[in-house]
Amino acid sequence: MTARLIGIPKSITYRNKKIRESARDEECLVRLPGACLHRPDATIWSHYRGSAGGKAGALKADDLCGAFACTACDAVYDGQRPPPEGMTYSDVVVAWHEGHIRSIVRLHEKGVI
Ligand SMILES: [Zn+2]
Repeated sequence: MTARLIGIPKSITYRNKKIRESARDEECLVRLPGACLHRPDATIWSHYRGSAGGKAGALKADDLCGAFACTACDAVYDGQRPPPEGMTYSDVVVAWHEGHIRSIVRLHEKGVI
């Protein structure tokens, strides 16, 4: 809002359907111990939750800022479920970021990026 008022152009959010759809039948690469479903049929493209990735309100982060995550790991990262026993939310964030790096490498292996 402020950026619009003072004339700063809004950055363009990067969207890539091939990245999002590539999550189908991938293994979860976030792998939260005690939470992960370890089921490729439950894997989605999990978007980064911070503003550094372009997230703003209901607007999701850029599609490059994501990870292959099962719905359970994504729910913990999103705060819909508590961290698994013995983990803090900071541990969850670190695990998600490691999953993000694994996912970028995997996307490259698959020729998606
Ligand atoms: Zn998982």
